[in-house]
Amino acid sequence: MAVARGLAAVGIADHDTVSGIPAAMARAAEYGRGRLEVVPGLEINTDYRDGEIHILGYFIAWDDATLAETLARLRAGRTARAEKILAKLQALGIRLSLDRVISLGEEGSVGRPHVARAMVEAGCVKSVKEAFDAYLKRGKPAYVERMRFSPVEAVKAVRQAGGVAVLAHPAAEATPALIRDLVQAGLEGLEVRHPEHDLRLEQMYGAMARELGLVATGGSDSHGPSQTYGADVGSYTVNAGVVTELRRRAERRRTENGTLQAR
Ligand SMILES: [Zn+2]
Repeated sequence: MAVARGLAAVGIADHDTVSGIPAAMARAAEYGRGRLEVVPGLEINTDYRDGEIHILGYFIAWDDATLAETLARLRAGRTARAEKILAKLQALGIRLSLDRVISLGEEGSVGRPHVARAMVEAGCVKSVKEAFDAYLKRGKPAYVERMRFSPVEAVKAVRQAGGVAVLAHPAAEATPALIRDLVQAGLEGLEVRHPEHDLRLEQMYGAMARELGLVATGGSDSHGPSQTYGADVGSYTVNAGVVTELRRRAERRRTENGTLQAR
């Protein structure tokens, strides 16, 4: 799709996994050298207050062992929590399919809202609110504590793996205070262009990126032709200079990481 739409580069940034990158690179190579650059990336789902913050990592070393361990831990933690909730519900006489709950998950996250929706679907409760109030809230019979992973931890994980950490679609949950904390932790970019940003937000985050010295990135956030989230591949683009700048910063990161390791 990226080639058909005339893109020079495409970022592959799946949620909490890098497993699609080698296949994307191999496919791009079939078009010949220099036709389509695959930017190896990642989007890490993190917990912030009661919501989620997503951290992108561009030009990461996708074969990095420490990164692989971190991501495996995150994925296992999410599924394990959903499984524990379903086990508690089953003990209460409510049977739900884990596969169905996972398929209701959006943007790679599986959590209580998706369990609640499965409960509504199955006719156990009338609404998502009722599911939370009667079963899923803290103190209720199917509550399970979750493993938290902070946005700052995600920024550090991306840097450790030689990548450039970028705050994804900041309009969703991020506050200016959080953005400043993340910059302190080593954030290097802000996703300015995104289907969820209108022109006003794009200008606002563009100005913020300039002020903080961050790379202004962007993209369609396409989740595939059959998915409702995001836009079509190639419908939200950035200039090639953004890719060059991300690559330059990643190269610097690796040099610095190498120097640290050599000490
Ligand atoms: Zn996201």
